[in-house]
Amino acid sequence: MLPRLLQGPLAAAPLPLPCRLAVARGIRAMSSAAPAPEPAQRSRRPLRGVVFDMDGTLTVPVIDFQAMYREVLGGDAAYAAARAAGGGSVDILHCIEGWAPDKQRHAYEVIARFEKEGLDRLQIMPGASELCGFLDSKRIRRGLITRNVKDAVDLFHQRFGMMFAPALSREFRPYKPDPAPLLHICSTWNIPPHEVIMVGDSLKDDVVCGKRAGAFTCLLDETGRYGPHDSLPEEVKPDFKVSSLTEVFTMLEENFDLAPANLTPASAESRI
Ligand SMILES: [Mg+2]
Repeated sequence: MLPRLLQGPLAAAPLPLPCRLAVARGIRAMSSAAPAPEPAQRSRRPLRGVVFDMDGTLTVPVIDFQAMYREVLGGDAAYAAARAAGGGSVDILHCIEGWAPDKQRHAYEVIARFEKEGLDRLQIMPGASELCGFLDSKRIRRGLITRNVKDAVDLFHQRFGMMFAPALSREFRPYKPDPAPLLHICSTWNIPPHEVIMVGDSLKDDVVCGKRAGAFTCLLDETGRYGPHDSLPEEVKPDFKVSSLTEVFTMLEENFDLAPANLTPASAESRI
């Protein structure tokens, strides 16, 4: 799967921030006659928006995706074949796109049932509401992109009382890992992608979407399933990797200028 996802404008993604900072430090080190180094704050890139994935990022993962894939695809053998074809992962929405209408309708019914069961057990991710409060205090916009349905996003908003805008569900096509939903949010905010960071728990969907859009990326890896940051393939390596949402606070404060001067009163009023 990953090789297919890597096609496209990944080359346009920004260099990882540590690389840019290393370059900046190197330039300063060479200028021995230069005046005192600039304050660290000036070397930080401005950040004006954070876009989150929903399932597994803002909410605790409760959907048994493997069981869902087996039932949609028709058993263990079909699931194994789809995994092999996808390089070890399954893009179930992509798999069923070309199916006959009746078969596709049944597949969507199965997916909807699993998602409904997931909604019944929906839990907010620890640190999510505190992180939203932090972003609000810094006047940083927050959006949401999910491959789940709009009803799930609506329930999420109602149940936890925190709003994300825009919040794009899979009714918005094309969905992640295509960069279109993230670019749409940036356009709506009138903020360039390089002043936005995408935060999510999926390398192949969230990180690839963010990189393709030219945004910063942060992988949430609670269980360490992706291994060390340095071991990730360079083409999909996120700028940052955290193991909890509470680590996002520190990551944002240490690496970004969170008080951009060019936020106009008008744009501030339109915020949620
Ligand atoms: Mg997710």
